[in-house]
Amino acid sequence: MELSGKHVTVAGLGVSGVSAARVLAGLGAHVTVVDGGDGERQRETAAALGGEGITVRLGDGDTLPEGTDLIVTSPGWKPTSPLFAAAADVGIEVWGDVELAWRLRGTARSASVEGGGGRRAGVSAARSASVEGGGGRRAGAAPWLAVTGTNGKTTTVQMLASILKAAGLRTAAVGNIGVSVLDAVLGEEEYDVLAVELSSYQLHWAPSVRAHSAAVLNIAPDHLDWHGSMAAYAADKGRIYEGNTVACVYNTADPATEELVRAADVEEGCRAIGFTLGTPAPSQLGVVEGILVDRAFVEDRYKNAQELAEVTDVQPPAPHNIANALAAAALARAYGVEPRAVRDGLRAFRPDAHRIERVATVDGVDYVDDSKATNTHAAEASLAAYEHIVWIAGGLAKGATFDELVAKSAKRLRGVVLIGADRALIAEALRRHAPEVPVVDLERTDTEAMTAVVDAAAALAQPGDTVLLAPACASMDMFANYGKRGDAFAAAVRALHNNR
Ligand code: ADP
Repeated sequence: MELSGKHVTVAGLGVSGVSAARVLAGLGAHVTVVDGGDGERQRETAAALGGEGITVRLGDGDTLPEGTDLIVTSPGWKPTSPLFAAAADVGIEVWGDVELAWRLRGTARSASVEGGGGRRAGVSAARSASVEGGGGRRAGAAPWLAVTGTNGKTTTVQMLASILKAAGLRTAAVGNIGVSVLDAVLGEEEYDVLAVELSSYQLHWAPSVRAHSAAVLNIAPDHLDWHGSMAAYAADKGRIYEGNTVACVYNTADPATEELVRAADVEEGCRAIGFTLGTPAPSQLGVVEGILVDRAFVEDRYKNAQELAEVTDVQPPAPHNIANALAAAALARAYGVEPRAVRDGLRAFRPDAHRIERVATVDGVDYVDDSKATNTHAAEASLAAYEHIVWIAGGLAKGATFDELVAKSAKRLRGVVLIGADRALIAEALRRHAPEVPVVDLERTDTEAMTAVVDAAAALAQPGDTVLLAPACASMDMFANYGKRGDAFAAAVRALHNNR
């Protein structure tokens, strides 16, 4: 679609809406941003955009502006919004920011054509030729290696980018993190390949995205209020496989991911590649005696497996994180990256803050911040990584139930400290499935509570134990976001450390 001269309505005046509006205006579209809010922050932003020739309508996010040719929506807007119903009635397309990026890729610097280029250090000759040879490829049109899943997306794309860099490729981890896909596609920087994190929201509004290869890490109930049902949520995640050319990577421990591969319409020759924490079958990556091995992309025909790295090359070496590393390795191998670069890239990778981050050891007790564990599936993964745990949990449950999580983790719990609005739900599950585990309910929901939380946890812990903040809930009842929650925990732990 030629966007110049078109009337484009942008839904949402948040970060992604503002960036989309500017891009569209720059392409010569007539842009109207609509937003249901009408606060001071929105008015300031509206005034700035007004100066750039962009119309902003505040206080009404539901009515479709007359003459709209296309809607570009922010990921947070629910599919059930009246705006989209109005658009569907008259056959107007709705794109998310990722769809916009996909449609615009290659247009930014279309004049600059990449030359034949030499072979890059860590990429196999065959791949190198197909990527860089033959007529050149437009900058900005780098292929996408895409990752989605309920948990582990950010970690996996960062591991993947680290591996691709170790292979000498120009790349970045983009999507929900740091650089947006739109910025990466339209920016000055040139890339050979992008490691793209895609949320289920973004995939919902990205019908024409076609990745080189993609992975769905896992599917557990989350954001069901947005998608309407588990089936709709899974289907949106499954879109990531549509049109893949080389590999669809799935998790053998999560049959739903394999089903999505089967349901996807992919290019001829595209392979289904599984990853497992156990011994891999052919066409899988897995773990054998502490070594990450590849039985899917074996180049030496005298071998049936290729060693990639050691489990201890992955930080932290918790089971779920090994799974993330295998998924990242599978995508990199699908792109032709050599084993040595997989190992070097994994070794160079360091996890982001608040993701199983060890804060300090006090009196022989490790204090670990996994504030990013905002749902039960994530909390289950981090609880599985330790033997004796004092668990700090609670916050906003987002409709989740806790019975399964508590039942699975009960034997590891030395004690539990509960905080936040929905802590009673966790307390009830503990009474049902772990009645012998001591529980401290501080009955607090204030920002200052973390000192008392850490003191209570310290009183429960024994040397060798881990005090683990993995709340299984969102943080917004007490904190601005999970990062602030983790910061408050870390500050309280450091205070404890300094008082010893
Ligand atoms: P996302 O970007 O999908 O939110 P992150 O990489 O930021 O994922 O990790 C979020 C949280 O999910 C982490 O704090 C960790 O506890 C948990 N986690 C990470 N990888 C996995 C996985 N493969 N399976 C289950 N939980 C995971």
